[in-house]
Amino acid sequence: MNISRVYANRGRWVAECECRSASQVQPEQKAWRCEECGAGYRLLWPIQRVRIETLLRPRRIVNQNWNIGEPVDHLLAENIEHGLAPEAA
Ligand SMILES: [Zn+2]
Repeated sequence: MNISRVYANRGRWVAECECRSASQVQPEQKAWRCEECGAGYRLLWPIQRVRIETLLRPRRIVNQNWNIGEPVDHLLAENIEHGLAPEAA
């Protein structure tokens, strides 16, 4: 089965298909099937998912983004830069 790496976009976790279609997925979700082309994927979540969620939570929805491979410390640095609580939880 193919693997789809999950990323955060506007406060949602998103999986993307090779056909470029994307869907929101839930943290407990292990697999996903593209509604456009029917391709099946196993979902690969960031190891620091919970920390990413914690760091994104105090932001405006439009800024609740995390890209695949982005160091989580980037999010912390951006929060500090914008005067947001570094760790909200
Ligand atoms: Zn697809």
